[in-house]
Amino acid sequence: MQNNPWERARAQLKNTAKIISLDSLLEARLGSPDRVVEISIPLLLDDGSVKVFTGFRVQHNNILGPYKGGLRYHPQVDMDEVKALAFWMTMKNAVIDVPFGGGKGGITVDPKKLSESELERLTRGFARELSSYIGPETDVPAPDVNTTPKIMAWIRDEYSKIVGKDSPAVVTGKPVGEGGSEGRTEATGLGGFYALMELLNLSNREYKDMTVAIQGFGNVGSFLAEYLKEAGFKIVALSDSKGGIYAPEGIDVAKAETYKKSKGSLLGFGGKDISSDEVLTLPVDIIVPAALENAITEKNAPDIKASIVLELANGPTTLEADEILRAKRITVIPDILANAGGVAVSYFEWYQNMHDEKWKKEDVFKKLKAKMDSAARAVYGAHKTYGVSLREAAYIVALKRIAAAV
Ligand code: NAD
Repeated sequence: MQNNPWERARAQLKNTAKIISLDSLLEARLGSPDRVVEISIPLLLDDGSVKVFTGFRVQHNNILGPYKGGLRYHPQVDMDEVKALAFWMTMKNAVIDVPFGGGKGGITVDPKKLSESELERLTRGFARELSSYIGPETDVPAPDVNTTPKIMAWIRDEYSKIVGKDSPAVVTGKPVGEGGSEGRTEATGLGGFYALMELLNLSNREYKDMTVAIQGFGNVGSFLAEYLKEAGFKIVALSDSKGGIYAPEGIDVAKAETYKKSKGSLLGFGGKDISSDEVLTLPVDIIVPAALENAITEKNAPDIKASIVLELANGPTTLEADEILRAKRITVIPDILANAGGVAVSYFEWYQNMHDEKWKKEDVFKKLKAKMDSAARAVYGAHKTYGVSLREAAYIVALKRIAAAV
């Protein structure tokens, strides 16, 4: 059960429902997605052959507003994972207090094995089949693992052709010149940084020179690393799917990024080469899972030495691991708070599209900070009031907001 994210999501719901005596009908409603869409996408490959791909869209709940959540292109995308990710979006949107419900989707594909034109045809095919289920006021997809602003622009274009009018608000995470918001690329990493800072402030913890190890050096992990370094944290380990590096004296994040771009991997950058997962058990103050689900399990949790886990990936900690971390008194800043910056700025983008506005980057960051600070304070408040973990507190905040809107 521990590796099934959907079972984990349901267990989290059940646990919190009990703490706040949630209405049983609402609990049952949230315990299953509103709708699950499965789509076959036949694709003509460049070599003339045809391959059929499977895409999913799970619309979990829309009590607070249109379904909202990312699309992931990954060879291991499966329905239980997508259902869990959609559930977490419902919770996250409620925690960060934006008027959206939760959705998630994806295609079971390794996009690195497709040419650019195959990827475009696959995405447009997916968008055509999805078009009757999505829309600015129905369901608004966004980027996630392996999906990019360009992919979002293809979806907007395809959807707009089908409905016969330009509809930029059908997706978020578009390129800035094509209806995207300033600051969306930085948003999740920056939001995680704001949440961490606010919680450190609330708990009166000094952060200068705290050491940090980050698993996943993609969009989210790389921006977080830069903001942390700028604020005086010491980034000592980084990893991606190919492996990691550990340098106790500190890593020059910008140089590591350039190196990774040119070599395709962090290995050999400097310090010591380590495995992708080893970053999580190093002797550091903060670890940041920023790659995929189930990074922290009962196998590696006993070896974790950090005092703070900042969950930037979705669902990186299994239930069993969560128990182990709790017993070790490790503070876990839960995903539905820590990585909510992405959807906060997605909401800002959607809002700008709907109202034909364009905000400056500094205004976006100011509004993002306000959202993250306020969510962190609400979660910290519930943590103190109910004497529960920050994760349970985040679910309490979310479920109370949803219950109040029914
Ligand atoms: P990305 O594709 O840009 O980066 C993912 C990174 O993880 C890559 O560097 C990849 O090499 C690395 N990775 C994959 N498997 C790994 C492993 N086993 N060990 C170490 N590294 C590994 O994706 P992203 O947008 O940065 O998203 C990362 C996580 O953050 C995902 O869980 C995603 O759902 C979550 N998230 C992203 C956003 C967003 O705005 N992009 C918002 C909320 C949550």
